[in-house]
Amino acid sequence: MRIRQAIYQFVDDVIELIWPPNHCLLCCGLIPATDLLLGVGLCQHCRHDLAAYNCCPNCATFIHSNATPEQLALHHRFCHSSQVQGIAAFNALAPYAGQMRQNLLQLKYHGQRRLAKPLGQEIARAWQHTGWPADVIIPVPLHAEKMKQRGYNQCDLLAKACGEVLNLPVLSNVLQRVKATEVQNKLNAEERKSNVESAFACEDGIEQLAGKNIILLDDIITTGSTMRACAVALQSARPAAIYGLAVAGKLLQTESFEKFAD
Ligand SMILES: [Zn+2]
Ligand SMILES: [Zn+2]
Repeated sequence: MRIRQAIYQFVDDVIELIWPPNHCLLCCGLIPATDLLLGVGLCQHCRHDLAAYNCCPNCATFIHSNATPEQLALHHRFCHSSQVQGIAAFNALAPYAGQMRQNLLQLKYHGQRRLAKPLGQEIARAWQHTGWPADVIIPVPLHAEKMKQRGYNQCDLLAKACGEVLNLPVLSNVLQRVKATEVQNKLNAEERKSNVESAFACEDGIEQLAGKNIILLDDIITTGSTMRACAVALQSARPAAIYGLAVAGKLLQTESFEKFAD
């Protein structure tokens, strides 16, 4: 298992050396070499477009600044009923739609591990904008069986890239997924909740989390049920706070521009 992972990593490193990812994560346009050296994954145009969205800290929904009062009221109703206990606040990089959705599908199901680095670096920038405190990053774990099939945990890779930028330690082994769960995207909110309930447990080393601000990192936040289940397991460590961070959150359907059209 470890040898397979080491080989994957080596191949990725060689490819990256010869052909570094140099396309914008949203529009696929070329990123200037000077920006690439700084670990930038978005072109200026897309960064500007993303700035028109606000990621709701309560439910991780992306809301465009053009949202109508009716759409805002809709969000309010949804948001009010979707409070995720145990998570102090959520943040994500972009809406789960268009090219960002494709990036995550490629990373998760098509072995495109190299996408994790620019995505992780950009999540780190999104985090820096929040100004929230953080001491450690914990990626949402995969079940051992899934890990065996896929060969890697995409959240682990994202967390490592994010941790390098934020200069924070990544603890990948403290939290374990002890229950093999169904894929969440075919389930409704209630089914999602019961699917992941008791799916996570803390292993040795939990005492180091006491009084710490934890970033819990996932690839997508939809209903927040996975994050909530992780938070339940982590609460036994008595952390100061747990924040949910992800590449993508759901998009409130407004007059979204074509970049986020499915
Ligand atoms: Zn772009
Ligand atoms: Zn909300």
